[in-house]
Formats: sequence, structure tokens, C-alpha cells
Amino acid sequence: MFASSYNSLLVLFSLLVAILAAYTALDMAGRISSAPGRAAHWWLAGGAVAMGTGIWSMHFIGMLAFSLPIPLGYDPAITALSLLIAIASSAFALWLVGRNELPSSRLFCGALLMGAGIVAMHYTGMAAMRMAPGIRYIPSLFILSVVIAIVASGAALWIAFNLRRVSPLVRPLRAAAAVVMGFAIVGMHYTGMAAAQFPLGSVCGAARDGVNAGWLALVIIVVTLAVLAIALIVSVLDLRLESRTSMLAISLAEANQELTYLALHDNLTKLPNRLLLEDRVDRAIQSANRENNRFALMFMDLDGFKTVNDAYGHHIGDLLLVEVAQRIGANVRSEDTIARMGGDEFVLLAGVAEPADAATLADKVLTAIQEPFQVAGRELRISTSIGIAMYPGDGDHQGDLLTNADAAMYHAKSLGRNVYCFFEASMNAHVHEQLQLVQDLRSALVRHELILQYQPKFTAPNGPVIGVEALVRWSHPTRGLIAPDRFIPLAEKTGLIVPIGEWVLDEACRQISEWRTAGHWDWTMAVNLSALQFSHASLIQTVREALERYSLEPHCLTLEVTESTAMRDADASLRILQQLHDMGVRISIDDFGTGYSSLLYLKRLPASELKIDRGFVRDLTSDTEDAAIVSAIVALGQTLNLNIVAEGVETAAQRDFLTRLGCDSLQGFLLGCPMSADDLMEALSQDNVPNDAT
Ligand code: C2E
Ligand code: CA
Ligand code: CA
Repeated sequence: MFASSYNSLLVLFSLLVAILAAYTALDMAGRISSAPGRAAHWWLAGGAVAMGTGIWSMHFIGMLAFSLPIPLGYDPAITALSLLIAIASSAFALWLVGRNELPSSRLFCGALLMGAGIVAMHYTGMAAMRMAPGIRYIPSLFILSVVIAIVASGAALWIAFNLRRVSPLVRPLRAAAAVVMGFAIVGMHYTGMAAAQFPLGSVCGAARDGVNAGWLALVIIVVTLAVLAIALIVSVLDLRLESRTSMLAISLAEANQELTYLALHDNLTKLPNRLLLEDRVDRAIQSANRENNRFALMFMDLDGFKTVNDAYGHHIGDLLLVEVAQRIGANVRSEDTIARMGGDEFVLLAGVAEPADAATLADKVLTAIQEPFQVAGRELRISTSIGIAMYPGDGDHQGDLLTNADAAMYHAKSLGRNVYCFFEASMNAHVHEQLQLVQDLRSALVRHELILQYQPKFTAPNGPVIGVEALVRWSHPTRGLIAPDRFIPLAEKTGLIVPIGEWVLDEACRQISEWRTAGHWDWTMAVNLSALQFSHASLIQTVREALERYSLEPHCLTLEVTESTAMRDADASLRILQQLHDMGVRISIDDFGTGYSSLLYLKRLPASELKIDRGFVRDLTSDTEDAAIVSAIVALGQTLNLNIVAEGVETAAQRDFLTRLGCDSLQGFLLGCPMSADDLMEALSQDNVPNDAT
């Protein structure tokens, strides 16, 4: 065998190159995994070239350091092939560590393949010498070199994969890893070289026509170092750029976040604004649909906030709003949303199991707001009105829900403030018109816009007149004459019915006393009472005073109470009716047949009159069922000794039929419409009211 020797300077160089190549490889691995999109491909390609060239040139320098007693050379084609193999296995290694994960099976296969690549490169490089006879390899050392290549590759892959993230410690760690890897690569090379035996008399086939090594050593070292250095410099510069860009991106994202916050929150209270609320409601709808649960949307409007603002100025008003926002927040769960819609309007979005929970929550908020606020050394009191819309039920979309909660809130306001109110479909229709009407109604009494019309009641079939029923109308300055059906319910809801009812009673008493003095001494006056009047404590007193004021005998007054009103709180009603009855006032059960009074109860009612609802009268002559009901009511009334009145008599046929069934009195357009006192007198004086009918 030839004795071989090494140039120790070149061996040292080969080690340096190996370490540098390893460092470059590790750096590239980090860049590939952090580079965005296409850039990762460029880093992979560049990295593979740099790393492949590095490893290959380490090998080549190692070969140049090696000398035999015969002249040596290298076949350019085979040498180039070994370079390609180095680049390809580098590319594969970099690709592998650029993955998002590196399970041990993949690491193992990778180590095998990459190790095989390095081994292939090395022995291809050896083959480039074209030795004749061929190089003999000592099997044990050859296998050791293969094992070193595989283990070193595995370690390199593992280290590279774990060091790819950028962190403060990454550089020294990378450098240390590069030293270890460099030694492994060099170790493999020189183990492989040790395995090689060159029989005496061998001739290097590439020595003559191949590339002569002499000058090449320097060129390769310089080029390789240049390639690796450029790769590293580019990488470092790019990293700087990238970190600057990412810093810029971070501050941009922060600015964006700030802008988004501003766009979605109220400046004063820092609560979500309408925009964010709408989004939250949309999400709540989706989640309610998905999970089959409910939520409540509560629209709140502070009562009397404007007064505070006017009295103490906007500054105090603003402070109060902030306090109110905090107090609402303290009374709801953290997952609920409170939004400020602007002005003194807030909306609460809260998940609830059922409407009763929403009611409890609304109660809680009402109570909390009622407590006095300490604002800038002042004690301020305020209340709120709440409208509640439930999902599902009160609208399918965010817009509907808000509108409906708003409508319910207006309704709550109209009920006298500091209350909550659930949405009902009827609220939507004429919310604003109704509100306007309520406002107008408040002043209607003072402005004397209410008037009474009187509709005569006749002894069946054609008279004489036994009395009249007072029916109120509202002579609205712009809307003309408004029927009671349109404003009595409003008056009931707002409590305005009490003063209105008092006025009606007074005016009706005045009128009947006038008529009685004028000769109609046997007429009675019927006045309608609504539920709220009926339950009002002052009713008895009001009636007594009205009678006394006009020196009327109580029996000239009939109070008409509907069946359902009388039934609402049966025992209490009974007591009031009994008192009125004891006074001598007559009681009439209005709209009889539409309610559900029990006959037993009816028997105990101190009534003197039953009015058959006009619904039965309407189809009387064609509908046998109605006829049966009317005759049953008549029979009942007769048994209880009540005066039976049929109302809504519009045709002669109805009049005749009702008379035949046994009704005592008739009332309706056929015999006389509701009209002013003067018109009624005129009609009667012409004697055409009762006779008109025939
Ligand atoms: P009601 O007590 O049942 O009054 C009878 C209603 O039937 C009156 O309507 C009257 O105009 C109408 N009417 C009379 N004859 C006929 C007829 O032949 N055919 C038809 N289709 N209708 C007839 P109005 O005046 O619009 O009153 C409606 C309701 O308003 C009354 O029903 C009563 O419940 C309430 N109301 C009227 N005035 C007062 C009042 O002063 N106080 C209270 N609390 N309620 C009143
Ligand atoms: Ca009536
Ligand atoms: Ca009636």
C-alpha cells in the first residue's frame, strides 16, 4: 500500500469550511421556516447551494490536503457530479427542517437519506481520482464512515429543526451546533479516507487529463468562503429587514387595533357603541340558533336626563352618564353587553333562560338606577324606562329586535316611566302616533277638547226614551273627532282615564239634571266605567260628589261596567259594586256575553241591567245560534229580575226579533245615534227619533 500524508493547514481549513457550512445550513433552516410564501423557496434554493457547496468544498479541500507518492488529479465530470449530490442532499435536508413538524419517523428517514447523500458525495468524489487499480476500502472503517454520516445527519437535522425559531440565544446555540456538525462532517470524511487503501503501483487516471490541484485549492477555498459569507450576510441583512418590517407591522396592527376600538366604542363611557352592539346581537342570534337558547335585548332611556343636563350643564350630564354606565355594568354579568346608543340611551344584551329572568334583570337595573348618584358633589336622582325584546320571538334580525325593544321602551315611557315593558306586536304599528296622541291627550282636558254625545235608550220596540248613554269623543284640533275606542285604551294605560272619567261623570250628571229639570224627569243617565277607574280608590267618592253637586237622586245614574272589568278581581269588584248599589246607583253589565262570567257570580252581582253585546245582535236574524244565546240571556235576566237592553240595533228586523225574544229596552243606530245634547233635544222635539224607526 502507498503511505499517505496530509497537509495539516488544509485539514484545518477543511474543518473551518465544514463548520461554516454547518452554520450557514442552520441559519438557512431558520430562514426557510420563517420566510413568507414564495421567499421560502428562494431561501431553500440559495441555502441548498451554499450548504452543498460548503460540504463539497470541505470534502475537496480534505482531498487536496491528502497526498500520495504519485501525482493526483480529479475528473471534472465526476467531481461536478459529487457537487450536485451535495447540493441535492442539502436541499432535501433544508426542506425537511422547514416543515412544521418533524416526527421521529421522519427524522429517521431524513437522517438515512441525507447520510446516504453525504456518503455518495464522498465516495463519488473519491471515484473522481479514477485510480487504477481501484481503491480498496477497509470494510469496518467504511461502515463506520457511513454510520457517522447518518448519525451526524440525524443530529444535524434535529438541531436545525429545533434551532430554526429566532430567539435571543439562537446565535450562540447555532454556533455551538455548527462546531459539532462541522466535526461530524470532517470526522466522516477522514474516517472514509482512512478506510481507503491505495495498492502499491496504483495510478491516478485523472492526474494527467484531470484538473490539477495546485492552484485550485486556493480558488476553491476563496470561492467557497465567499459563497458562504455572502449567504450569511444576505441572511443577516434580510433578518434585520424582516424584523424591522415585523416591528412596523406590529405598530401598524396596534394602531389598527386602536382605531378599531375607537370605531366600536363610545368615547365617553367606553362602552360598546351601536356598531359593536349590532355585531354582538348578530352573534347572539347565531349562537341562540345553534344552542337553542334565548337572550333579551333591553332598550333603556333615562327619564329626566334632559332636566339634569339643562339644570347643571353638559359636564355634569356627561359625568352622570358615566356613573349610570358603571352602575348598569355592576348589575349584569360580564358576558352581557351594555352599549351606549348615544344620548341617554343604553342597550343591554343579556342571555336569559326565559322571559321571567329578563324581568328580574330589568327590575334589578331599575332599582339600581333609582338610587341617588353622587356627581361632582351633588346628589342626582334619575330613573330609566326599559323596553325588552326577546329572541327568539320578537324579531328575526338584529334590526327588528332593536326597533322592537325601542318600541317597548316608548311604551314603558307612556306607562309613566321607571318601568320595564316587554315588546308586543301591537306596539310597533303606531308607536309614534300613539305617543303623540298621549301627549295631546294630556292637554285635551285642560283645553276642553273632550265632548259628550248621548245615545238614547228606548223601551222596546219603539219607545218612549227611558234614558241616554253618555259616550265621550275627543275633538282633536288637527285630527278631528276621535272615537273613544282610539283614545280610551291609551287613557287607561297612562292613567289619564281617571281625570277624564271624572270629567265625563261630572258633565253627564250636569246634563241629566238639566234634562230632568226641563221635563224629562224619568230619564236616566248611563256612564261607562273602564277597569282602571273601577279599581281606583276614589271612585265612590267621585260618584257621590257628582250626584251631590247637581242634586241628583242616585237612581238617575247608571254605571256601565263591562263583564270582563267586573270579573277582573271578582271579590274586590263585588265590594265596590255593592257600595255603589247601596248608595242607590244603578249598575249595568255592559257587553254581556263576550266575557266568561259564571252564572253563580252573576247572581251575586248587585246589577240592575244587562246589555246584550252588539255582536250577538248583528247576525241575530240569520244566525240561529246567536238567537239561542240572546234568548238564553233574556231568560237569565228575567230570572234575576234584570232589565235587558239590546245594543247595536240597526234594522227593523233586529228590533222586532229582540222585542219578540223579550228584551225590555233597545239601543242602536236604528232608533237613535249618539249625538250632542242639542241635537238630541231637537230630534226628540220633532218627535222623529222613535218613530223614524218604523
Ligand atoms: P259601549 O259602551 O259598548 O258603547 C256603545 C258603542 O256602540 C258606542 O260606540 C256607540 O256609538 C256604538 N253604537 C251604538 N249604536 C250602534 C249600532 O246600531 N251599531 C253599531 N255598530 N254600533 C253602535 P262608541 O261611542 O265608539 O264607544 C265605544 C266604546 O267606548 C264604548 O262601548 C265604551 O266602552 C267606550 N266609551 C265610550 N265613552 C266612554 C266613557 O265616557 N268612559 C269610558 N270609560 N268608556 C267609554
Ligand atoms: Ca256602554
Ligand atoms: Ca256595550
